Amino acid sequence: MQLEAGALQAAGSQVPSDEERRPALREEHVDVVVIGAGQNGLSVGYHLARKGVKFVILEARERVGDIWRSRWDSLRLFTPARFDALIGMPFPAERYSFPTKDDMADYLEVYAKKFSLPVRTGFKVDEVTRSGDRYIVSAGQTRYVAGHVVAAASSYQKPKIPDFAASLDPSIRQFHSGVYKNPGQLNPGSVLLVGASNSGAEIAMDLAATHQVWLAGRHPGHIPVAYNGYFAMRLVLPVVLRIVFHRLLTVDTPMGRKAKPQQLSHGLPLIRVKPQDLDAAGVRRVSRVAGVRDGKPMLDDGQLLDVSNVIWCTGFRAGLDWIKLPIFDDSGRVKQYRGAVEGEPGLYVCGLHFQHSTSSTMIHGAARDAGYVADKIGERMRAAAR
Ligand SMILES: Cc1cc2nc3c(=O)[nH]c(=O)nc-3n(C[C@H](O)[C@H](O)[C@H](O)COP(=O)(O)OP(=O)(O)OC[C@H]3O[C@@H](n4cnc5c(N)ncnc54)[C@H](O)[C@@H]3O)c2cc1C
Repeated sequence: MQLEAGALQAAGSQVPSDEERRPALREEHVDVVVIGAGQNGLSVGYHLARKGVKFVILEARERVGDIWRSRWDSLRLFTPARFDALIGMPFPAERYSFPTKDDMADYLEVYAKKFSLPVRTGFKVDEVTRSGDRYIVSAGQTRYVAGHVVAAASSYQKPKIPDFAASLDPSIRQFHSGVYKNPGQLNPGSVLLVGASNSGAEIAMDLAATHQVWLAGRHPGHIPVAYNGYFAMRLVLPVVLRIVFHRLLTVDTPMGRKAKPQQLSHGLPLIRVKPQDLDAAGVRRVSRVAGVRDGKPMLDDGQLLDVSNVIWCTGFRAGLDWIKLPIFDDSGRVKQYRGAVEGEPGLYVCGLHFQHSTSSTMIHGAARDAGYVADKIGERMRAAAR
């Protein structure tokens, strides 16, 4: 249906109004709009397709998988292929090998095609609002009207950088880990990585051969076994990923509720890199960066570091501020239980940190969280049809 802008302009008026000059809006009605075609959006799509629901998946980027393609050049997944598959399609690699970021991107693209998921690439959602019992999803010149929306744009959309970064001396090259590609982007000399969780530790290893690396921040803990060994891969890793991260540390267990605040503020423990790997590579550990003095990064004991580069490995925000509805708590987090947003029936999220468990932001956790959301949508649709 075409909504002709300015249709209500008084008949006979000669001068086109601002509304009339704007290109026509296209309006489409669907049961569900899924926003984001990453592992979570595609998994929700897989489940919805099996329920025969009419839905679209809107993806801002040009190709499915581009978010992985945009990550740093040497990135290999820290989870072996066995834990990198989405529901219904094995990952096409040896079970205990570590796929590259481009392998993962291509896998997602093939997945969307294999299950004929209705992905529309190049559709960036600008706004989600509500009109009565329908959600209005605006993406450029298209408005989708739907009874259900799933924001599956995860936890990794907006880089977090502390305000004091702006006071660093301009001669220091600084950027967020989300735009790090390779050592060639840096000034010669030393580099300070702020944030010692998985991205900080992995980038430290990538840079250690070419730069003096300082790694700042609290150690988030690590899996205490050699990661690549036969025993670790076949016994320890499945227990950590599928039992501890997936079944024990959830919002429904006392242990999980205790771990949740810690994981939300400090991230996951180191999964692949070990403290001894960092030591062997010559990476120097320092405490938290507390601010900037005289244009230099200052640690919380007052020490100034004379570095040529700073990479902020300080994580991401969910970046869901285009949802113009009162769904956020005082700390900016979406109020939800297992993806169902409080006070907004029909609105869901997928892929948030600890949405249900530690595995909620991992590839192997997507199937269960997405399945739960799709089931809730199915239940609502059946109830409405009665
Ligand atoms: C560097 C790095 C390495 C990681 N390695 C691993 C690993 O080895 N193993 C593992 O299990 N997990 C890993 N993760 C965690 C997680 O699996 C990934 O971050 C994964 O990409 C999250 O998937 P997602 O579907 O939730 O979101 P994303 O992959 O971020 O997908 C969301 C999609 O939504 C789109 N989008 C965003 N906003 C809009 C909008 N307004 N309108 C339309 N589309 C929009 C984006 O373009 C994107 O394609 C890693 C994370 C990072 C940052």
